Formats: sequence, structure tokens, C-alpha cells
Amino acid sequence: MDLYGTLRKQYSRLKSLYRSKRTPPLSRVRRISHVFPPKDTRLVAMTFDDGPTCAPSRPLSDTGITQLIIEAMAAYGASGTFNVIGSTSENYPDKEGKPGSFKWSGVRYDHYPRFGHDTAAGAANQGRLVETLIAQGHEISNHGYRHVAFGPERIVYGSRAHFTNSHEVTEDLARLHNLLTDDFGYTIKLARPPHYIDKIPDGFTSYDIYEQLGYQYLGASFDGGGWRASTGNFQEDVESMVEPLRKALKENPDSLSGHIIFEKDGYNMSLEAPAAFALPEKLKLLTSYDYRIVTVSELLQLSQFADVGPSSDTYEAIMFLTNMGKPVVYRDNTFRGNNAARLGEVMIWLGPQHTPQGLAKAGHKSKHARFASDVSRSKTPVSPKVLLDIAAQNGLSVPDTWKQSMQNPVPRWQAVLIAAEILS
Ligand SMILES: [Zn+2]
Repeated sequence: MDLYGTLRKQYSRLKSLYRSKRTPPLSRVRRISHVFPPKDTRLVAMTFDDGPTCAPSRPLSDTGITQLIIEAMAAYGASGTFNVIGSTSENYPDKEGKPGSFKWSGVRYDHYPRFGHDTAAGAANQGRLVETLIAQGHEISNHGYRHVAFGPERIVYGSRAHFTNSHEVTEDLARLHNLLTDDFGYTIKLARPPHYIDKIPDGFTSYDIYEQLGYQYLGASFDGGGWRASTGNFQEDVESMVEPLRKALKENPDSLSGHIIFEKDGYNMSLEAPAAFALPEKLKLLTSYDYRIVTVSELLQLSQFADVGPSSDTYEAIMFLTNMGKPVVYRDNTFRGNNAARLGEVMIWLGPQHTPQGLAKAGHKSKHARFASDVSRSKTPVSPKVLLDIAAQNGLSVPDTWKQSMQNPVPRWQAVLIAAEILS
């Protein structure tokens, strides 16, 4: 693997290690990378980044890359999630980058499908492709109008141009969102930031902006490899994209159910499109294992969270609170039911009374917890007594059966079941 590929892989490993070591914050916006496998059926989602594009499927065909993908998906009754851009034509002045390097599409900015050919890609330029995608039941997701990074990323992307504040990010995303609404009557519900860069220089993150726009964060859990540089042997490149999928399915036919595969709707770093040619083989393989390939939103209708499925007792309770606008699930889409419930979250679920007196009465010791925003950060585990006190302060009463069976501290699964019961 080339240096860029190695760096990118190591970096994403570091990031996911970092994420797994600490409990992420509660969030209404969840990063959906995979969901608990839906029952009785194998479902997988495929996401296609950086299109749509009419750029020819080099080196084997003159057919546009997106068109080729659409045809392959139709042949297997598959629906995809297309994580589209608006247009990169405003990303100038810039210099052409060197193919094979991480700056392959431009030195300061990204240009899709390639430097100097920006009108061949993006929803603003390729309206007919967007119409076809929507007409054929595919899903559209927001990948940023100009595909500009939300902030700096020094390890891999060096000194590239990026947005400097959350206002710029919101404007860019809203521009693409409104384009889809106004020109195509389509409402976007998912988004993935360019290069997965989340931190905005003014302290906000992708999650904050997505919450404003009503999005969920589109993650992925399986790399289709479409971005990697070519080896010089096209057939080998195509085969190397199918092989990891074949291996995973052979080892465990269920292993991909509920997962999201990352694909590229455009050129790789060497200005070739092996991913478009590997796709039919991947779809053939998946369908031979009885997988249905669905959009991410279809997947979410059947299963929402990473570690708890619809057949669990807590699922309905989590959905109930979530639909009330209460944050129950962590930012990484896990529920972690055996974690101790925390004072802050129980107060939010059973709120809205967050007065200092109420806090003191509920046994909260911190002198800092004077406002609701501080309450939400309180990590004190909740005992049965505290939970009952909070409920009482909010005029809610806990059924006797729960009073007798509460564990100390109260685990999240139990707190959620109690909260849902007394709020319904
Ligand atoms: Zn991208």
C-alpha cells in the first residue's frame, strides 16, 4: 500500500481507538456506521461519495461513472445512498495535483471528478443524474456543496484550505440542502463531512451543524476501497476491491448485516474508476448470500442503534424518549445499557425542572450545577433514591414494581424503561 493509504488507515485506526476508550456524549445526532442486525433478513447499505458524475469510467468505458453504478444497482434490485456534493467549480484559484498523491484532485481544494472538469460532477451541474437517482429509489445525502473540509487536519491533509467557522459550514450545507429541496423536491436527512473531518475551528463540530439541519451522521463500517491509488493492473485493482467482501462473507455470512459499505462515485487517486467495475461483482456476491441492498434510511426504519435491536425490551423505550426529543443514545449510536445511568441524563429525561434547589434535593453536590447545561454534564451515577426524588420533583410517580427491583446504581436500561413508563 502507498504511503498515503497507510497513513490514512493508521489515522482512522487511531481515531476509532480514541473513540472506543471514552464514553461519547449523549447526542440527538448519531453517527450511524452500522446498526444491530435486522431480524430474519440480511440487509446491507452502500454509500457512494463525491458524485454524481458523468465522467467516463476510465480506463474501460465511456459511460459515466454514476450511470454505470445506477445500471449495476438496477440489475440487482439494489438501492444506494448517494452522498453528493453541489459543485467544486468555485474552488479556485488552485493548482492541479499529482495523480497518486493525496492532492490528486487539487493542491488547495478538492475538485470532482477531477481538476479543471468540475462541471462534470455535483448535483448543481448534473441535475439529470440526480433526477434519475431519486426516480429509481436511491437516497441522497449531504456531502457539502463545495466539498471543503470543516476544519484543518494536519496529519493527512496538511495545509489544505478549510472552513474557519460554523457559520460557513452551515451555509455550505444549507446551500446543497436547499438545492435538493427547491430543484428536486427532495428532503435530505443524512450527511457525511468531507474526509470525515468533524472539528470546526470555532469549537463546534459536524454534529452541532447536523442537529440544526435535522440530519443524522452518515458513517460507514466497511471500506469498499474505491479511493485507493491504482497498482497499474486494472483487473487486479478491481479484484482487490471484491476480495475483502468475499473473505468477510465466507468467514461469516451474517457479518455484513446491518453494515454500511463505503463506495466512491468518482475517480480514485489515479483518475481511474475500478470501483464502478467491481460493483456488479460485489452485488452478485451479496445477493448470492441472500442480502438485500437498501438505502441507509430503509435500514434505519428496521433497526436504529448499534448495540440494541428492535426485539429488545429497551428498544421501544429508547425510541419513545428519542421521539420526545430527549437524547438517550450516545453520539456513536450505542446505548450501552449496562452503564450506570447518570444524574444529568435522568434529569433531562424526567425534566424539565432543573432548579438549583431541585438539584440539591436530588442529592447533587456540585456547586457548579446551577444551570440546565451543567446538569446535562453531571456524571454522578444515579441511585434508586435519587431517581425517585427526581421523578417526585417533576410530579411523576414510579410504579411500586420498579421501586422494588431497582439496581443500585440504576443501569441505563432500567432507567430508560422506568422513564418511558412514567412518561407515557
Ligand atoms: Zn468526499
